[in-house]
Amino acid sequence: MNHFHLIDGVLHAENVPLADIADAVGTPVYVYSRATFERHAQVFRAALSGLDNPHLAFAVKSNPNLAVLKILARQGYGADVVSGGEMDRALAAGMAAEDIVFSGVGKTAEEMTRALKVGIGQFNIESEEEGVELAALAAALGLTAQAVLRINPDVDAGTHGKISTGKADNKFGVGIDRAPGIYARLSTLPHLHMRGVALHIGSQLTSLEPLETAFQKVGILLQELRGAGHEVTHVDLGGGLGVRYRDGDNPPEPAAYGAMVARVTKDWGVRLMFEPGRVIAGNAGVLLTRVIRVKPGAGKAPFVIVDAAMNDLARPALYDAWHDFEAVVPNGQKMMANIVGPVCETGDTFAMGRNIDPVAPNDLAIFRTAGAYGATMASTYNSRGLVPEVLVDGEKFAVVAERIAPATILAAEHVPDWLK
Ligand SMILES: *Cc1c(COP(=O)(O)O)cnc(C)c1O
Repeated sequence: MNHFHLIDGVLHAENVPLADIADAVGTPVYVYSRATFERHAQVFRAALSGLDNPHLAFAVKSNPNLAVLKILARQGYGADVVSGGEMDRALAAGMAAEDIVFSGVGKTAEEMTRALKVGIGQFNIESEEEGVELAALAAALGLTAQAVLRINPDVDAGTHGKISTGKADNKFGVGIDRAPGIYARLSTLPHLHMRGVALHIGSQLTSLEPLETAFQKVGILLQELRGAGHEVTHVDLGGGLGVRYRDGDNPPEPAAYGAMVARVTKDWGVRLMFEPGRVIAGNAGVLLTRVIRVKPGAGKAPFVIVDAAMNDLARPALYDAWHDFEAVVPNGQKMMANIVGPVCETGDTFAMGRNIDPVAPNDLAIFRTAGAYGATMASTYNSRGLVPEVLVDGEKFAVVAERIAPATILAAEHVPDWLK
């Protein structure tokens, strides 16, 4: 459920007509709904109500906007971060350091040192080498790092290859067969407190089955670790729940996910941790765009050229992703069209041969389900500006990330003296 809906035939975000935002801020622009973020955060929490005190860490990479993180902080969420930059954002949003989990295969010594100094809650270690380095950095500071070992359960998440992370040949985590040995060796290191395991098998999962398979493997690993005398108090089950991008998508309901987790983990006796991203943010945002021009195509379908492009919303170019396209003032009819952006790449195509609301030059339209992995992946390719973000709350809205103009980006470039 989300709050981007028609009121008297005109698309609104909550109670704000989208045209008001286009007038005030220009297009393209991401528009987020506070009520939708809050609802999703609450639905996900409620889905886990059968568990004892789960820790919820929003996956910052899905939508790192400071105002968005503030909404989630107020909902009692911590953060899952994958860089020092994301850590700084979570802290700036008021999340407690101890509620932040630091994931990622390439944490640098500098990032780990800063995270130790601010008292980050947990490091999700992705290799033995990283654990050894973290222990040494903690020793140098006279601190103890709380850590879990990310395991790679070798299951096929059944999602797009570029967002699948739990197959043996993916770069993430350590092979589950090697985990007991690595866990044992890391557990002997002073200044490193190994307290459990983590996994995250991929994103936009549309079936619970691979998750359940992976969790069962973790259950067996837990017994093995405990059998070997290790303490295991925390298991981080990652994120990955899919959302509905188009009619016919049928992702699992959070409640079904929660019930499955409760069933599979009932004897584990650990504090469970979660890292939801897309399921919280996906449907909480749209990309508002304006039609520049409509150009005849070779076939019957014309090209609808919009002012948003692959640099603003990369998912279609990266993952062949589908985003519903809707006119802000639909007239009830349909036309067949190809929807493209202005960037000079054929990959800058949002849809081919799609049945859409008829649109004409200057009309406003949205791409739906753009709240996750949208603005955060934006670039300035083709020397376009960096897309702004707006947050709506009932009748009001605010710019929560300014448009960065091409001139500002140009001003940060320099021609060396010896070229002048
Ligand atoms: C990307 C990521 C997530 C979030 O995944 P979603 O599919 O958005 O829920 C969680 N944990 C880790 C380690 C990630 O890399």
